[in-house]
Amino acid sequence: MSPQIFSALQDLDLRGAALNHASLKAVLPRPELDFSTAAAAVESIIGRVRTEGFTALAELAQKFDGVLQSHTRVPAEAMERALVELDPEVRAGLEESITRARAFAAAQVPGDTVVEYGVGATVTQRWVPVRRVGLYVPGGLAVYPSSVIMNAVPALAAGVGSLAIASPPQKEFGGLPHPTILAAALLLGVTEVHAIGGAQAIAAFAYGVPVGEGMDPALAIEPVDVVTGPGNLFVATAKRLVKGVVGIDAEAGPTEIAILADAAANPAFVAADMISQAEHDPNAAAVLITDSPELAESVRNALEDQCATTKHSERVREALGGNQSAIILVDDVEAGIAVCNVYAAEHLEIHTRDAAAVAARITAAGAVFVGPDAPVSLGDYCAGSNHVLPTSGTAAFASGLNVNTFLKAIQVIDYDRGALSVVAPHVIALANAEDLPGHGDAVALRFS
Ligand code: NAD
Repeated sequence: MSPQIFSALQDLDLRGAALNHASLKAVLPRPELDFSTAAAAVESIIGRVRTEGFTALAELAQKFDGVLQSHTRVPAEAMERALVELDPEVRAGLEESITRARAFAAAQVPGDTVVEYGVGATVTQRWVPVRRVGLYVPGGLAVYPSSVIMNAVPALAAGVGSLAIASPPQKEFGGLPHPTILAAALLLGVTEVHAIGGAQAIAAFAYGVPVGEGMDPALAIEPVDVVTGPGNLFVATAKRLVKGVVGIDAEAGPTEIAILADAAANPAFVAADMISQAEHDPNAAAVLITDSPELAESVRNALEDQCATTKHSERVREALGGNQSAIILVDDVEAGIAVCNVYAAEHLEIHTRDAAAVAARITAAGAVFVGPDAPVSLGDYCAGSNHVLPTSGTAAFASGLNVNTFLKAIQVIDYDRGALSVVAPHVIALANAEDLPGHGDAVALRFS
């Protein structure tokens, strides 16, 4: 291997290997850091926020974000100033992103489902928004105004009435979240923003922050029904731990990109897209799956060239050099599809011939990007799709943030006496079979 060839990425050669689900799951790359690593620290943070409220939040803001806080709620004047001072090019970008996200979210709003079982008998599934949501917007190594849009647009489309945002306090902005985050919130009409980061933000949303006697009532945070949003390992772990107390979207932790590519792929595009996601976090994952050793080598060369000039090269090298990143060699695209469906990437790009046909065979991914001109960066900002997506293989069962995340389905049963009489004998028979005769009696009584 020449010294020019990027060496941080590990190789995984699956050519000739049996590709059954269990054996693949055992060998595919995953981060060394997993939820168990962070669980003890996060449990302690959640416990402190529950028992000490604002006092714990202020201490954690000082410890992790280096700021002294007297309040978490961002004052209205600071939000307005942020919008007035917003760079016009950034504003245009946010507005385009909002327009596209709104169109996609509006199209997702489900209608009621009604089934009639003869005269006087209907069952309806009615969709109802949750009352209040807590939206997490990351702001550690990078700040994410785009995540304000990705969280808030589907919640608003679902009809949620009360939205609160939390994002880490930034030392250089007087302990407030980044001004572009504040401006994005105001563009969407969200006025409740708290300067709280990490696991403590998730805890404050899930359990609320009550205020004791003699304390400023403005320190209170009302608990929410659903917490959504992306974040680092601590945020994702906190969401896992509060699930059940509140609903969550998915565990949208450190970013992952998988790229399925054949010999026809452009190695510079593949390398650039791997770097674009690796720059999020040293724990981010970038995985290339290919049947072409020549492409693998060209991508390594391209990574070397591009890493030399990219701004966050240290973070990128750390992410690409971690156990979670790899170049995986497979026998053919067919085998590549099998690997992708077990890996269940947050983002999956398809750079193969006939990319749309290959994409149609993907059964596990947060989002699929089809062909050479649909990079993940497009989806991060302006495709119209949502960028809050399941990570760590949870795309096997979880979905990206969407309107349904904020809706509950209520089933409404409306039968009159005549309709009940039609099924009464069946209800009574089934109730007796379960040795629950009271159920049958409740029906029989109506006809006695
Ligand atoms: P962040 O806001 O998620 O985390 C910053 C906070 O982490 C800090 O405010 C602090 O409270 C907490 N923290 C830091 N070190 C800690 C420690 N040792 N113990 C406890 N808490 C600690 O911002 P970030 O760090 O920049 O991470 C953003 C993440 O979001 C990245 O991993 C990125 O890949 C991910 N992301 C994921 C998606 C997705 O949909 N999956 C989308 C966008 C971003």
